[in-house]
Amino acid sequence: MSENNITTQSGKLGIDDSFNFSCGKDLECFNKCCRDINLFLTPYDILRIKKRLNITSNEFLKIYTFPLLPEEIGHPVILMKMIPDETKNCPFVSDEGCMIYTDRPWSCRSFPLEPVSDSETALFQIIRRDFCRGFEKGRPHTVKKWRDTQNAALYEEINDEWKKVTHHEKFSSQNLLEGNSRDVFFLGSYNIDEFRDLVFKGDFLKYFDIDKKVLKNIKANETELLRFAFKWLRQVLFGENTLKRR
Ligand code: SF4
Ligand code: SF4
Repeated sequence: MSENNITTQSGKLGIDDSFNFSCGKDLECFNKCCRDINLFLTPYDILRIKKRLNITSNEFLKIYTFPLLPEEIGHPVILMKMIPDETKNCPFVSDEGCMIYTDRPWSCRSFPLEPVSDSETALFQIIRRDFCRGFEKGRPHTVKKWRDTQNAALYEEINDEWKKVTHHEKFSSQNLLEGNSRDVFFLGSYNIDEFRDLVFKGDFLKYFDIDKKVLKNIKANETELLRFAFKWLRQVLFGENTLKRR
């Protein structure tokens, strides 16, 4: 989640360090963090939410999101559409809180901890929003315990697989903001149901020799299909030999 009034607290936390934070309905700020925000969605966020809503990735993208093509990032990004009225609420916020809580996006679940990206060991910093009261009477948590309760490792593991595309050494060799390369990146990153159709209904298997076990696995498991899509992207965009050609 990103927003203008975010600050980061100085001082880095290791995995066994503690911080105080509690979030809940009893706080006057309840749900304030779920409105008028730039909520970036990762490929795995999209997969989880469209599955939760029991709709296709295409439907999810059309109804709930909009794309941007930021030059400074160099590839298409997807953001959640806030409701276009005076509330500017996230479409999934209710009086009871987040309606998709167990499948909420990575940036919602990681708050208030943010990994320090230039660190070799696992270090985190606290993110603060000026209206957030969660720090005032918060209970103590270790970073490790907090991250475990947020299922952070699974999300990060899949995001790291995607980073092998978005941080590829040949990333700058392709213009992913235009034309066919943009469409390929979009398909393999964000539109898992269309990618499945490409593999199982299109000509894909005429060109790639995929092991039967792998095919069975990606047919049965969408998360595995997404990891497979990232490998395909590395091959078609950057020429890595991640998949065997016929
Ligand atoms: S997805 Fe859930 S937690 Fe995230 S902004 Fe929307 S309502 Fe809030
Ligand atoms: S404590 Fe912070 S994270 Fe929790 S509802 Fe309030 S503003 Fe949102």
